[in-house]
Amino acid sequence: MKQNGTLLNTPLNKDMIELSDLHIDEMGDNHIATSVDTPMRADAFDLSDDEKVAAIEKHFKAIMDVLGLDLTDDSLKGTPRRVAKMYVKEIFSGLNPANKPAIALFENKYKYNEMLVEKNISFYSNCEHHFVPIYGKAHVAYISNGKVIGLSKLNRLVEFYAKRPQVQERLTVQIGRDLQAILDTEDVAVIIDAKHLCVASRGVEDDTSSTVTSYYGGKFKEEATRNELLRYIDLKTDM
Ligand SMILES: [Zn+2]
Repeated sequence: MKQNGTLLNTPLNKDMIELSDLHIDEMGDNHIATSVDTPMRADAFDLSDDEKVAAIEKHFKAIMDVLGLDLTDDSLKGTPRRVAKMYVKEIFSGLNPANKPAIALFENKYKYNEMLVEKNISFYSNCEHHFVPIYGKAHVAYISNGKVIGLSKLNRLVEFYAKRPQVQERLTVQIGRDLQAILDTEDVAVIIDAKHLCVASRGVEDDTSSTVTSYYGGKFKEEATRNELLRYIDLKTDM
């Protein structure tokens, strides 16, 4: 299963191609072309948010019904609508490009030409295979190409891509590629260290392991630059 040729048009470094291979092996060969972009249908936004909430409410109610839950119970009767609103307006709001944060860039007037690292960005996402949380820390770094970005925008961008059904590999690459486009530089790195509740609370039930993924572009592929970044973020930092 070596089809790296099909990945040549993506700026993935060697590490990421290996990660993608893992993902592709698990998901089957048909997913190669869509492994970086979230697989979405063309009609994904034909329904308004309110129409989606109403439809999901109905379907989630059916799931609870099948499980035998008494939906006339005071504690349960509001749950289908609560879940539907949470899906559309909160935890999956990053599916909609309209919710992407507006990002203003500034001139690098102070001529800061070194690495900037925004570390320990907390995020909450959800595993697209089980719809249970993935949570952890993202570390984002770039070297300015003449423009700088408002620091909180780095957090907002991580949050935007996290608020989708995700796999950690894709989340990492989506943040890295978008930052490269926004900042107009290859010199971007993203490292994510996260826990997956589908691994911790079910399945193998391992609640001590965490998963680390990385995306290194441009100068971050050089060992010295990469090591500087790794020293700054020190992965032993408390989760
Ligand atoms: Zn999962």
